[in-house]
Amino acid sequence: MSEFDGKHCKCGSEIFRLAHDEWMRRTFRFVENGQLKLCEKCGSKYLICQKCGSLFTHIHPALESWEVNQKCVVCGFEDPDVKAWDGVSAR
Ligand SMILES: [Zn+2]
Ligand SMILES: [Zn+2]
Repeated sequence: MSEFDGKHCKCGSEIFRLAHDEWMRRTFRFVENGQLKLCEKCGSKYLICQKCGSLFTHIHPALESWEVNQKCVVCGFEDPDVKAWDGVSAR
């Protein structure tokens, strides 16, 4: 597996479309104000950097706080909502 570069999915694809996921919006506070992109190939979802639009961090239902990228690997933007997340789902 290559290192996460903010452009490619972990499956290697770089074709994404914008996605809405109500469950994730409700579950992860930092998704509520952010945008998600969905990999067309494998269906992985990513939070999008608010500043440059790159892939910020991979999101999945069993997400833990240590898995979340604290800053954008492309522009270095630190998302305050991600930082504030304590690893606990809303419900
Ligand atoms: Zn993928
Ligand atoms: Zn960025």
